[in-house]
Amino acid sequence: MIDVTVMGGGVFGLSIAYVCARRGARVCVVEKRALASGASGGPLGALAPHVPDNWNEKKEFQFRSLIMAEQFWREAEQISGLSSGFRRGGRLQPIADQRALELARVRSGSARSNWRGRADWDVLPTCNFAEWCPASGTGYVIFDTLSARLQPKSACLCLAGAIRELGGQIRLGEALVKGQVVWATGYEGLQDLSEDIGRTAGDGTRGQAVSLRHDAGDVPQLFAGGLHIVPHADGTVAVGSIDAGGSDSLHSSSSRAETLLERATEICPSLRGAPVLARWAGVRPRAKSRAPILGPWPGRDGHFVANGGFKIGFGVAPGVAEVMADLVLDGRDRVPSGFRVEDSIG
Ligand SMILES: Cc1cc2nc3c(=O)[nH]c(=O)nc-3n(C[C@H](O)[C@H](O)[C@H](O)COP(=O)(O)OP(=O)(O)OC[C@H]3O[C@@H](n4cnc5c(N)ncnc54)[C@H](O)[C@@H]3O)c2cc1C
Repeated sequence: MIDVTVMGGGVFGLSIAYVCARRGARVCVVEKRALASGASGGPLGALAPHVPDNWNEKKEFQFRSLIMAEQFWREAEQISGLSSGFRRGGRLQPIADQRALELARVRSGSARSNWRGRADWDVLPTCNFAEWCPASGTGYVIFDTLSARLQPKSACLCLAGAIRELGGQIRLGEALVKGQVVWATGYEGLQDLSEDIGRTAGDGTRGQAVSLRHDAGDVPQLFAGGLHIVPHADGTVAVGSIDAGGSDSLHSSSSRAETLLERATEICPSLRGAPVLARWAGVRPRAKSRAPILGPWPGRDGHFVANGGFKIGFGVAPGVAEVMADLVLDGRDRVPSGFRVEDSIG
């Protein structure tokens, strides 16, 4: 007997199945390739907040999810006995000029009210952070204590292990669909949904990341020039870009790994000469609204959609899982406005 079948073994599907299993449901995850073989299999793993001003429901949802993350990943690690690589180590961002410095200081105040004492956004001199700190035009950096990191593939395997420990099933390949069905099938799921409803709900955008052998120790992650530089516990540093412009469209074949490496060593000279362990490319599921898409699949009774993680899928996964478990198991609708299927198709 299965209460919930979750299609897709990426971070959305596994997080939803894990939370449903923790609430006592009998779950089955069906993955047509391998676990974390989609966007969730990259090396980056930056859990980084939006800027703390111009607060809205999307930022509030991401904030709550980032706060929830620590307990979420610790408990999954305890149940599975596997590491997710989670650590809340904060993030440094160089401040280029006087205008940015003033804005950063205003945002410190916004963080005090919107982050409600759970984390800080401080403006500090670069000399506080030794040679790992990126060069900064003003001599100051933003140091936020909300940012965290994890190792994406390990985190997915940790969730899968916890699901099995809780009595759930993981099936690779084709499987019979039973109970309520959650479609967490990444960019292909957005294409399927668009085809089914006859309107574009979203698509994929390609992105690259690089993993380097470099043991940076317990230093904060960096965000500079649109680049995430994330030190991991296993003696690696991952580099990825937030760019997802026209040249990164799903159908482009351009590889930007070499550019990433050049830019990373400019920002962080201590990475120069670090051996490249992996160059990785994946497809981010991007909803038309650019927000997650959560809720019932239009016109398919008992079927739900959980998609559109785009650039922050790992950051919002704990919150997405709670909201989806409420909806699927209890019929309780806590989906934020702007995150519904109809919000993405207009
Ligand atoms: C280069 C890059 C860097 C990123 N960096 C970060 C970051 O630092 N922090 C962050 O939070 N996010 C980051 N992201 C975004 C994040 O990876 C995604 O938002 C997230 O992985 C999406 O998870 P998902 O489970 O929705 O999709 P996916 O991980 O793509 O999983 C979907 C799964 O469904 C399976 N599937 C498809 N169709 C079917 C079917 N019919 N039946 C069964 N299974 C099916 C696929 O094989 C796949 O395994 C990055 C993305 C990229 C590409």
